[in-house]
Amino acid sequence: MGVPRPDFPKTLAQFQARFRDDAACRAYLATCRWPDGYRCPRCGHAAAFELTGRRLWPCKACGQQTSVTAGTVLHRTRITLPLWFGAAYLVATHTPGMSGLQRQRQLGITRYETAWVLLQKLRRAMVRPDREPLQAEVEVDESDIGGPEVGLRGGRQLLDKALVVAAVEVRGRASGRVRLQVVPNASGPALTRFVQAHVAPGAIVRTDGWPGYASLTALSYRHRPRTQRHPARAERILPRVHRVFGNLKTWLRGTHHGVGHQHLQGYLDEFTFRFNRRRTPMAAFQTLLGLATLHGPTPYHRLYRSE
Ligand SMILES: [Zn+2]
Repeated sequence: MGVPRPDFPKTLAQFQARFRDDAACRAYLATCRWPDGYRCPRCGHAAAFELTGRRLWPCKACGQQTSVTAGTVLHRTRITLPLWFGAAYLVATHTPGMSGLQRQRQLGITRYETAWVLLQKLRRAMVRPDREPLQAEVEVDESDIGGPEVGLRGGRQLLDKALVVAAVEVRGRASGRVRLQVVPNASGPALTRFVQAHVAPGAIVRTDGWPGYASLTALSYRHRPRTQRHPARAERILPRVHRVFGNLKTWLRGTHHGVGHQHLQGYLDEFTFRFNRRRTPMAAFQTLLGLATLHGPTPYHRLYRSE
C-alpha cells in the first residue's frame, strides 16, 4: 500500500530526463494520489476529464474538480513543478560537498531568493515530532563542531565551536538510524536528557568512559562504557558514531558558509533526515514534497466502507 515507488534515478540528469516538464510531473502526482486509478473524492466515479496543462481533474459524473497538488508543498506556488522536483531530488539524495550555490546552478535557478524559498519549504518536512526512539543497541558520543578545525578558505571559521551529541543504532556491522542534537555542555544532565529523549528504555547504550554518562544505568539503560586511553583509537570503540561525525563535518565544511549557531540544529535535522532515509531515497523525495501522506484514507473510502 501507499504511494508507488519506482526506481529512483541515480543522477540528477536521469531524474531531470524523467521529470522533464510540467506534464511529466503532473502525471507522476496523479499516480501518487490515485495509485489504483482516478477516483472522484465526492462521488467515487472512476473517470475524469483530462485537461491539458491543468492540475485539476474534473469528475465526469459530478464535475468535482480535484487538484493533484492539493495537500502538497507544490500547491499554489509560482515555482514550476520540474524545479520543485529537482530541488527535492537534490535535498533527498545529497551529493557530498555540494554547496547551496552549486545546487542552484545545477537546477538552473537564477535567483537566490527562489532557491532559498524552495529549500526552506522542503526543510519543513524534515522534522517529524512523532519519530520512534532508537532501539536495541546504540552508540552515543559527543563532539565539537566548528571552531578552528573546520576552517574555511581565508581563515574564517564555519561557526564558533558548538557541542553536538549523536546516537547511532547498531545493526550488526552497519548503522541504523541516527539522532543529532546541539547540547549546552557535556554535563551529566545534558547528556542524560538527550539519551532519554532519543533512545528507548532498556536499550544497550555504548559510550566512552566519560562520567557524564554514568547515571544511565540508574535510568534502566544497559550502559556499556569503554575507556580508550589513546585518543587515536577512540573511534575503534564507537566506530559508527565516529563515522557519522566524520560525514557530518565533511558535509558542513563543503556545503555551508557561515552557519550561525541558531541554524545549526536545522542543519543537523537535515543531515539526520537524509541519513535515516539513505536506503529509501524515493520515500525521502516524496516526504519532502508532501506526497507521502496524499494517499491516506480517502473520502471515498470513508463514505463507502462504513457498513
Ligand atoms: Zn464525482
